[in-house]
Amino acid sequence: MDDGMTHVKVSIKTPHGEIEGGIGVPHQLMTSVDLVPGALDLTDNIVGLAIEHANSQDLRVSCRKGCSICCNQLVPVSKPEAFFLLDLIRERLPPKIRKMVKGRLGIAAAKLGESGIAARLDKPTILDEDHDQVGEDYFKLGMPCPFLADQGACGIHPLRPTACREYNALTPAALCADPVKNQVRVALPALKMSMVLAQLYAQETGTAAELMPLVLAPGWAAEHEEERGPPVEGPELFGRLMGIVSRAGWAKPPESPGGPEADEGSTR
Ligand code: SF4
Repeated sequence: MDDGMTHVKVSIKTPHGEIEGGIGVPHQLMTSVDLVPGALDLTDNIVGLAIEHANSQDLRVSCRKGCSICCNQLVPVSKPEAFFLLDLIRERLPPKIRKMVKGRLGIAAAKLGESGIAARLDKPTILDEDHDQVGEDYFKLGMPCPFLADQGACGIHPLRPTACREYNALTPAALCADPVKNQVRVALPALKMSMVLAQLYAQETGTAAELMPLVLAPGWAAEHEEERGPPVEGPELFGRLMGIVSRAGWAKPPESPGGPEADEGSTR
């Protein structure tokens, strides 16, 4: 029976293990923005394998609900995620929260402007050698994510960006208070889906693959509303996404605790 979907079997071999499953992709025109929910699920699978691998080496994730210091870091998001966040703010947040988040986004953008960080990002890519330094300077601003809710919980937890899902500390939580000074180790996923989405968007629009800070993303998306990319049949677009995943350079498997698995001193 034709249910308007193509059912695709997904099988991905990562250095941390295999991901297998099925997904139904609708027969309708879509853009890379529509693939963000699927990319979030895939991120969870890839991250889950990285954590399992860390556990097998007697390393445990120390992140807990309410421990939100990492939400002061620069969170890099792809352009499809930027549009996804814009839609989320417009369509899913209750009016009171929407107003609060918009206000916080405005304050964050102003702070980035005053600090000179926005100008340094005006390339606009943050995928260069200056990324680490920008990340450090950003963290020093002490600016919590606009989506952070009371008691340090993420206000959009089920829909949070890929980068937020990929940050799982293996060192004591106290070290995260100053990830610039301390060596914070995270369970490094074998693949960062933000980069996959950035590459898909770049491929579809003939532009460069770029990431941007979460706090600037909804504003950028609102200013580039018409640039979501050309609509493509769902199964075709999903195939292109999986093509990028299959060609991706997977991070090398860790050699030992404290080895390459450890993304030390990371500010995301
Ligand atoms: S989206 Fe959520 S998890 Fe990500 S930085 Fe913001 S509050 Fe933290």
